Amino acid sequence: MNIFKEATEQLREASKYIKTPEDVLAVLTTAERKLSVSIPVTMDDGTRKLFHGYRMQHNSLLGPYKGGLRYHPQVNEDEAQALAFWMMVKNAVVNVPFGGGKGGIQVDPKSLSPGELERLTRSFVRRIAHVIGPTIDVPAPDVNTTAQIMEWIADEYARVVGMTSDESSTLRAVVTGKPVSYGGSEGREEATGLGGATVLKNILLKKEGELTYPLTVAIQGFGNVGYFLAQYLYKARTSDDQPMFHIVAVSDSKGGITAQALDPEKVMADKKENKSISDKLGKRITNDEILELDVDILVPAALEHVISKVNVHNIKANIILEMANGPTTKEAAQILDDNGCMVIPDILANSGGVTGSYFEWEQNMKGQTWTIEHYRRELHTYMTQATDEVWGAHKKHKVSLRTAAYIVAIQRLVAAIDR
Ligand code: NAD
Repeated sequence: MNIFKEATEQLREASKYIKTPEDVLAVLTTAERKLSVSIPVTMDDGTRKLFHGYRMQHNSLLGPYKGGLRYHPQVNEDEAQALAFWMMVKNAVVNVPFGGGKGGIQVDPKSLSPGELERLTRSFVRRIAHVIGPTIDVPAPDVNTTAQIMEWIADEYARVVGMTSDESSTLRAVVTGKPVSYGGSEGREEATGLGGATVLKNILLKKEGELTYPLTVAIQGFGNVGYFLAQYLYKARTSDDQPMFHIVAVSDSKGGITAQALDPEKVMADKKENKSISDKLGKRITNDEILELDVDILVPAALEHVISKVNVHNIKANIILEMANGPTTKEAAQILDDNGCMVIPDILANSGGVTGSYFEWEQNMKGQTWTIEHYRRELHTYMTQATDEVWGAHKKHKVSLRTAAYIVAIQRLVAAIDR
């Protein structure tokens, strides 16, 4: 089965609990528009090279298509379609007024010079400009795409529509994840980690009485998401001012460390000094070992499919907070469920990222600049509301949190069809 088909199966399974008609399921599992483009680029040596790119617009029931652009040699139509579908679901779960989109270019950006990367990006924008726009489709960063690339996209889009984005700040809303100096938002960088910490704390509150603090946490991946999540968990206190969590293990691509309680700031300082996490602050462990530690909470925050049938029987955590996209295979998710492990699914756990993007878009559209305090308060409201709704569906239908999140999404999308 291809990855898009497998993705839509998850929605079909959840739909059984709320008896969704087949014609509605057909709408939710079929892409509205698929754009495939060839992108000519003049290379530094004067030759012309053709690249291939996509923009998938899965569904716009809730608002403009929204989702990242990935620059990677393995980008393909099937994967982009699945990712666009998941964006529709995630946006519906967290209740931001966006549909689902995703796209990318088949390229290893590290093989290009900065000039070639800029020309590739601008050439791509010229080929998709007629299907994107602040109220049509709003791309964002994803694997290997940066704030600088988002700035080029906004600038090239403004040229195509015949205006500079200085003339109309609304035009900058064509893309999110921009540099703060170019209409980006202070707060976006930490939004996914802070959102994940908010979801986790809210769920733990609902299990109050069953838990003994501090809870031990292992985090695989110490990049943007893992680092900010760790910071917020490190600061979290119980009502009697005790630490809620002890971070006992962290890792990056080279492996990790374990210790009684790690301070994320110190780990980050060590990572910067030594280019990756050294054994200065704890005992060395591998990236496979970190997943199997005897901890209360496991956080995969790096790659997809790291929990599979190969290692699922060795997982000891009672709670898994999926900060990466798709870290658990379908088979492993079922086994974890059967074993009573509570998995907080990616479509809820990491939705702080797209919520933060929505705040950036909202500010651009209205010509506003929010304070970081306002941004954090709004994020807290959205994440808490989404968690409460998913928890409600989990209790009502006696299903996993993942199925519950799909149920919440389907209900919101169906309501939009009926409007
Ligand atoms: P990042 O590139 O900033 O960090 C990734 C981290 O994972 C790095 O520390 C890297 O060293 C580590 N890593 C790479 N390979 C690894 C391996 N084999 N084992 C362990 N660690 C490894 O990326 P990020 O933005 O933090 O994204 C992490 C995950 O979160 C991805 O799945 C991404 O799709 C997802 N996500 C990110 C956001 C966001 O706003 N950044 C939003 C939603 C979901």
